[in-house]
Amino acid sequence: MATPPASSGSDERAGSSSGSGERAGSSAGAGAPGRAAEAGHPLARTLTPWRLGSLEVPHRVVMGSMHTGLELVDDGGEAIAAFWRERVEGGAALIVTGGLAVSPSGRGAADYAVLGEPATDARLAFAVEAVHAAGGLVSAQLFHAGRYALLDGLLGADGEPLQQVAPSAVPWRAARGAVPRELTDDDVWGVISDYAAAAATAVRLGFDAVEIMASEGYLVNQFCSPLTNLRDDAWGGDAARRRRFALQVLAAVRAAVASVAAGPVAADPVAADPVAADQAIELRVSAGDSAAHPHKLVARSTRSEKTTRGSAPVPVAVRVSGDDLMPGSTTAEEVDDLVRELVAGGVDAISVGVGWHESRVPTVQASVPHGAWLGYAERIAGVVRASTAPAGEVRATRSVAVITSNRMTDLRDAEEVLSGGLIDAVALARPFLADPQLIVRSSRGAFDLVNTCIGCNQACIDRSLIGARVSCLVNPRAGHESVTPLTLTTRPVLLAVVGAGPAGLAAAVDAARRGHEVTLFDAAAEPGGQFGLAARIPGKEDYAATPRSALAELRALGATLRFGEPVTAATLLGSESTADIATRSESAAAIAPGSRSAVNAAASGAGSAGRERPTDRVTATRAGSAAPFDAVIVATGVVPRHIDVPGAELPHVISYEHALTHGVPAGSVAIIGGGGIGVDVAAWLTEPASEADRAAHFAARFGLVPSAALVGAAAQASSQTEGGPVAIAGSVAATPSVIPPVTPPVGVSIPAVGSESGSGPGAGAAVPPQRNAPPMAGRPLPRAGQLVTVLRRSGRFGDGIGISSRWVAVDRLRVAGVRMLGGVRYEKITPTTLDIIDADGVPQSIPADTVIVCAGQESNETLATALATAAVPYEVVGGAKDARSVDAVRATSEGLAAARRLAP
Ligand code: FAD
Ligand code: SF4
Repeated sequence: MATPPASSGSDERAGSSSGSGERAGSSAGAGAPGRAAEAGHPLARTLTPWRLGSLEVPHRVVMGSMHTGLELVDDGGEAIAAFWRERVEGGAALIVTGGLAVSPSGRGAADYAVLGEPATDARLAFAVEAVHAAGGLVSAQLFHAGRYALLDGLLGADGEPLQQVAPSAVPWRAARGAVPRELTDDDVWGVISDYAAAAATAVRLGFDAVEIMASEGYLVNQFCSPLTNLRDDAWGGDAARRRRFALQVLAAVRAAVASVAAGPVAADPVAADPVAADQAIELRVSAGDSAAHPHKLVARSTRSEKTTRGSAPVPVAVRVSGDDLMPGSTTAEEVDDLVRELVAGGVDAISVGVGWHESRVPTVQASVPHGAWLGYAERIAGVVRASTAPAGEVRATRSVAVITSNRMTDLRDAEEVLSGGLIDAVALARPFLADPQLIVRSSRGAFDLVNTCIGCNQACIDRSLIGARVSCLVNPRAGHESVTPLTLTTRPVLLAVVGAGPAGLAAAVDAARRGHEVTLFDAAAEPGGQFGLAARIPGKEDYAATPRSALAELRALGATLRFGEPVTAATLLGSESTADIATRSESAAAIAPGSRSAVNAAASGAGSAGRERPTDRVTATRAGSAAPFDAVIVATGVVPRHIDVPGAELPHVISYEHALTHGVPAGSVAIIGGGGIGVDVAAWLTEPASEADRAAHFAARFGLVPSAALVGAAAQASSQTEGGPVAIAGSVAATPSVIPPVTPPVGVSIPAVGSESGSGPGAGAAVPPQRNAPPMAGRPLPRAGQLVTVLRRSGRFGDGIGISSRWVAVDRLRVAGVRMLGGVRYEKITPTTLDIIDADGVPQSIPADTVIVCAGQESNETLATALATAAVPYEVVGGAKDARSVDAVRATSEGLAAARRLAP
């Protein structure tokens, strides 16, 4: 049985190799919790060990499965290794891989790795070793997409086009007309054998555990559901037969991992385990099938002793669907039956997912309340506890862990959930993309430093849907760790970054982390740029965390912060004295003990020996040059575009910036422009500010199972809301009693990025306290939707919003009763109306006590123009470079790239 290595003690760096086969967790994961789990620590429960079968995992936060496509980067595995390594060094103790297909036709798409393909296996082995060397554990997710596979243009080993397979020939809209082939009985056994073979391969490659993906509408889930399993044979016809595939996959996987764990000599895969033996009977009596795949059902290990954990087989987890969120699909009772049978079948952990790709219920978008899906995991945990409780049975000696996931970003919320005692661990996926040091920072109580996932999906899920390399809006290094290492510079550059919006913040943080001397300027008193406005939109409160964490980090790194006045070329080129700069700056030279190493050295791997002290470099520059900076990054962003419509100069015609900052008087509102910002502003006008109130609305609308653990927190959140709970006046009146049609674009409602991803009574809602709520100034009380009209000349409403979020954003407005008029021509604005010609050519007067202009932006180019002839090297990034799209992903990645070029 594995045991955790000793705590890393005072070592700030978060990983070290145990180098032994008795590996059980990272030194960061093991070390930080060891110190932190004292009484009174905000994460006291989170930072305690838990068991995943034969493993002891040092804390209760699992890095959940995320499809990144990095496994296929042809670099010997360095990209995926660096991605995982950095997160283990930041405290992740147990990582679940993205879906690793058990066969070529099981791939989600062309960029999915297939276990058993030699090049992939070599890369995975390299990456697994990197995780182990850093002190972490890694579980392979065994994946088969079934009818969700997008196999266009992919050929099998026989050179023939690959075809989706499924329990029944039920197509998926996103499959562009492709109808899956119904598996024959023999095929079904072949697929089960594929799972077994893949599990054996995973163990041979050194993986510490395996997780069978049986959720999110993939193949195992498809077998369980009456919507996609129309068979009437041994694999379908009633709920018990539909579940048989899941149980057989579990049995085969358990047999396979047991056989590999037993060592290089071919072993009876199940004899050592009475539960596995029971479950394997069916495999054995099915002589026809095992004869067809004998090599797969009895795996033989070549795994080295170094990576074994004695004779204990690697743990097997199953990720079940807490609720498919599909009308007519598997019932809660059937899910519970499946869970009971998996427990009886020897599963070591149940991880709870929710929702299908086709579901019309949003699950992972920013507007989905935090903790919305917890109730499902709690219900399943109750089933597991009841299943494992009876004394006197073999099962009573086993503990089956329950892992929850989805819409949780802050470990203080995880603590709330774990403290309830029902849930053993929480799986967070996207938050690890956003901040690899999530665990280390949180366990030190440095929550302000955590770069919070804002739920935008723009650089992760949206990219994975089109087969692009996954990254993160707030952490543009994500997925690119191997080519953008965090190495301390030996030649610090004096870098001025002008503009503290997303682009400037990304540039400043990256340069400061690597030891450059950064001065960050912003004309506004508060950093954040347009993101500060975005954070006022209901559901986007977490956007405020981006400038918050960047500032905390810059302060910790000793950057100079100058806010509250516009920068001119004179400041940057030296006609303003550096003494003035120093006097008026907020310089955080005093670095909290340990914080610099926490945010810098821990991630860089470089020591400070031989590094020029930044202060020396400042002195040298001042002495040798008139310019106070070696290089400038211009991130001055955008300004709202004006419109050329008669009446635009009237006082009640305001920009979105003015509206979001100062508020909007009571009465009707016409919004000119229905792109991303126009849609957001309409939501701001019609939705309540309190997340607790929105959660109640969401829960009632979709019939959510309430979470017991969060009820207390929700009450607290409500009482903290300005003026107490707010009635959802207009929108509640417009809320229908049945779920109205919500149409996601084909296949975008649920994360393809792994697991970030009920039919219950839906009586209540509970969310953790709103942790990133921006100032309430300017935030209106919700007004009735029919008082708000959004208008567009051309294009779709919400254009510019990411593919997985646009339908949700537009649907919110429909539900609130907001009028949306496209194809219009603006004629004139009067003191009470906006006069248009509608799409049918009919003149209309839209009631408008206020007109809000959301007609796009223009680059703020003043500074860049002034620097054009200057001698100092500079780059223009983000909105200042190109204001055409509302895209902070581009802004942050340009900020990072410029920092790497100007301050290498
Ligand atoms: P900005 O955010 O515009 O920042 C520029 C900064 O430069 C400002 O802080 C400004 O004060 C400062 N500055 C300008 N001139 C000077 C000067 N001379 N001296 C000193 N400082 C100066 N994008 C997304 O990708 N996803 C979303 O979900 C999203 N939602 C949005 C919702 C709303 C309501 C709004 C308004 C925008 C939203 N955006 C969204 C757009 C996004 O915020 C912008 O794309 C992004 O902020 C651009 O970043 P930037 O750093 O280039 O510029
Ligand atoms: Fe989170 Fe957005 Fe980053 Fe995805 S891109 S991890 S949703 S912040």
